[in-house]
Amino acid sequence: MGQVVVAGSINMDVVATADRHPAIGETVAGREVLYFPGGKGANQAVAAAKLGAATMLIGRTGADAFGRDTRAFLSMQGVDLAHVREIADAGTGTAVITVAQADNTIIVIPGANALVSATDVSASVIRQGDVAVSQFEIPLPAVTAFFARARAAGAITILNPAPAMPIDRELMALVDILIVNESELSLLAGLELHDTDPDARFVDAASTLQTDHRPNICVTLGRRGVIALVDGEVHLETARLVKAIDTTGAGDCFVGAIAARLADGHSLQSAIGYANVAASLCVQRMGAGPSMPTAQEVSDAIG
Ligand code: ATP
Repeated sequence: MGQVVVAGSINMDVVATADRHPAIGETVAGREVLYFPGGKGANQAVAAAKLGAATMLIGRTGADAFGRDTRAFLSMQGVDLAHVREIADAGTGTAVITVAQADNTIIVIPGANALVSATDVSASVIRQGDVAVSQFEIPLPAVTAFFARARAAGAITILNPAPAMPIDRELMALVDILIVNESELSLLAGLELHDTDPDARFVDAASTLQTDHRPNICVTLGRRGVIALVDGEVHLETARLVKAIDTTGAGDCFVGAIAARLADGHSLQSAIGYANVAASLCVQRMGAGPSMPTAQEVSDAIG
């Protein structure tokens, strides 16, 4: 069984809830403040670890209270933090989120995440059979160095290009599996896509991302499920009918679950089916990191 190695962000999400958002310059009384460990890298690592994969995270936190809390949380979920550096010259990444009347505003301060470097990823050990996962919440040179290392070792590489930005040819050539949601696909394909569009339109848009080496592509479509191009064939997975409470982290759960299953030797097609079930459990709970399901919960749901 391989290991899942994630190079990515670690944040504390600070959520303030109120009856309404303040206008510019105004102060309003809030209801409560909640703290959720987050960051795409951390969330995807937690998802993989809770599903039973040996999981290592490469990243950075500040030497502050949020750094201590996020590290304690990650370690409790079974994530190996040997390559998470604590640094004194930046704060832990923080997302300040206000929620009122079902709308939110978010300010993300990358902090220590912006300092993750190619040197950080070169210290880790990646072997054949491992699965390397990254996103765009750490600097691009670190992601590229990480995938180059993973490719040289014979590991599988998964890129979740979020927040969305164009992927250069050098990095794209190192990607085995690209996992995008509808808005990321829209930006990367340069097309306006809507969740009511027919499947064929998503398939066409995904095909435009396939460069010479034809990476496999998964497009997650929320409550519609997943459309994937696997070895050139279209694969559709309908989402489970569930009552969604909070979809935050659903995409991260999907990515972590795919990585965990591939590390356990399963095919990409079967990993997609499994991840679709895992993500449907995630949307039934609040938060991101804390809402990731366990392997037992997924196998109970599969029945
Ligand atoms: P987020 O940014 O909120 O973390 P995302 O936009 O990256 O999410 P989505 O496409 O919304 O990701 O969801 C990922 C997967 O989660 C879907 O492909 C599906 O498997 C599952 N999922 C999401 N929403 C629902 C839902 N309402 N019911 C069942 N499954 C869902």
